[in-house]
Amino acid sequence: MRLAHIKLAGFKSFVDPTVISVSQDLVGIVGPNGCGKSNIIDAVRWVLGESKASALRGDSMQDVIFAGSDNRKAVGRASVEIVFDNHLNKITGQWSSYAEIAIKRVLQRDGISSYYINNLQVRRRDISDLFLGTGVGGRGYAIIEQGMISRIIEARPQELRSFLEEAAGISQYRERRQETFLRLIETRKNLTRLEDICLELTSQLQHLEIQARIAKNYKLLQEKLHRSQSLLWLQRRTEAINQQTHAKKEIQRLETELEIVLRDQHNAEREYEKIRTKEYIVNDKLLQVQGQLYAIDAQIGRLEQEINHLRNTIDRLAHQIQEAENQLERSNQLKKTKLENLAHWYQEKESGIKSPGIYS
Ligand code: ATP
Repeated sequence: MRLAHIKLAGFKSFVDPTVISVSQDLVGIVGPNGCGKSNIIDAVRWVLGESKASALRGDSMQDVIFAGSDNRKAVGRASVEIVFDNHLNKITGQWSSYAEIAIKRVLQRDGISSYYINNLQVRRRDISDLFLGTGVGGRGYAIIEQGMISRIIEARPQELRSFLEEAAGISQYRERRQETFLRLIETRKNLTRLEDICLELTSQLQHLEIQARIAKNYKLLQEKLHRSQSLLWLQRRTEAINQQTHAKKEIQRLETELEIVLRDQHNAEREYEKIRTKEYIVNDKLLQVQGQLYAIDAQIGRLEQEINHLRNTIDRLAHQIQEAENQLERSNQLKKTKLENLAHWYQEKESGIKSPGIYS
């Protein structure tokens, strides 16, 4: 398996998309200090999954994104892709059938990092798995940068051992064994936890069974309640419908009665108006009659006065008549006396004639 290309864009000093072809087995990159030679190795390390910013000569992982220069603005994304030639089918597993294996890593400034193998998004772990035992990898022996030889010489036994194991191709098995061992410990811990849980669950089971019985009973009662409520509701609904029908009839009847009453009221009002009109006429007449009555009363008063006056006159005249009659009586008495006297005198006269010397 041979490295064929390195493609960089927005990575450190390689702001523009740059392709470095590794066409020969031996390729040298030369340039002045600070031109970016080490940045290329950083890019290879980074794309293979390096997660320590310090290993890439930065303070944070975002430092790998082009941070801008005097005449260029910063960018928001860095990407590096390395392409391997797999003609000899050195790569095993699911990628073995590919003639080229392209590994790509992209980082956004917001910290989102993604990995791709042949443009399929994968986990970081898939990339390290791909190169296990090949010496290629973020911490493999395949990348020997400045100062690495001295690091190997000065390495502690454990580090040296990992370099040697990687070179011997047993690192993948060792790593898998370590992983399996860790998983085994984890599984044992889980088993212990499960046993504890099992014990706890057994003690809870009885309690839960009682609760389940109660819940079952409760459910049955609830269903019964639901049925009863439904029946009650149906009955109430039927009653309500009957009441509604009855009420509608009653309303119709009352409306008819109301119409009659309104008609009667209307007639009564008309009658009342007529009677009022008559009352006005009668009142007018009454006033006239009262006027006449007052006039008659006054006339009666006058007539009574006249009657009294006439009575007085009659009394006076009766008195006068009485007086006259008395007078007449006396006159008649006197007349009678006179007549008797006269008669006496006549007699006397007569007798005088016969007997001279006596006259009346
Ligand atoms: P030397 O030969 O001295 O080791 P070199 O050629 O290896 O140098 P590098 O160390 O690869 O050079 O590159 C350093 C350059 O990369 C510096 O000019 C630095 O400004 C630039 N650089 C590093 N990180 C960034 C970044 N995030 N954005 C822009 N430029 C960067």
